[in-house]
Amino acid sequence: MAIDLNFDNITLAVFTMNGRLIKLKRLRAPLRRILTQKVRIERIQKRYPRSWRFIKGVKRAIEKHGERIRNISWDYAHKVGDLIANLAIRYCSLVVLENLDKLRDNAKKGRRFNKKLALCFYRKIQFSINYEAKERGLIVFKVNPRGTSFRCPTCGSRLLENGYRTLKCSKCGFIEDRDVAATINLFKTSSRSSHLNTQDVGSPGSP
Ligand SMILES: [Zn+2]
Repeated sequence: MAIDLNFDNITLAVFTMNGRLIKLKRLRAPLRRILTQKVRIERIQKRYPRSWRFIKGVKRAIEKHGERIRNISWDYAHKVGDLIANLAIRYCSLVVLENLDKLRDNAKKGRRFNKKLALCFYRKIQFSINYEAKERGLIVFKVNPRGTSFRCPTCGSRLLENGYRTLKCSKCGFIEDRDVAATINLFKTSSRSSHLNTQDVGSPGSP
């Protein structure tokens, strides 16, 4: 099972050992609810541009919205972790996650969110998936996701934008939803590296 994390959705795909996609699921992230809280924080900060840090009541109001963001994120992360671990058990699958480097890159790209907010969100989800999976004795495997979002899974050429959320390979004609293409690449990378790098299996490192 390969899992692609984005700020607005999580795409999970289950593959057979020889790479056939047998289950695809997309989970919407609580983007709007988090955004609402963030807008409220910014509104308060704008109203008290210099003093928000020093006025007790204002600072407390900001902290309250920050806490709501954390609660929404944790709540979602727990649900996702639980759901993914249960699916992995049902399909007897290994869980493949991206390591955090890509998450750092992705965070840079998110214009509506600051980097820190996106990273915190990703970390919570990864932590939760890792935790729930290991609790059930599943193997979690983290792969370097470099190129997973733009390389063609069939021929390795660069994928180009092809309308809403889809990418197309200019060389072989492969067309796929961009998140699904990313999961195919994650699966392929993991099945390549699991032959070479078996010591990584079972020690995914800190979330
Ligand atoms: Zn191609």
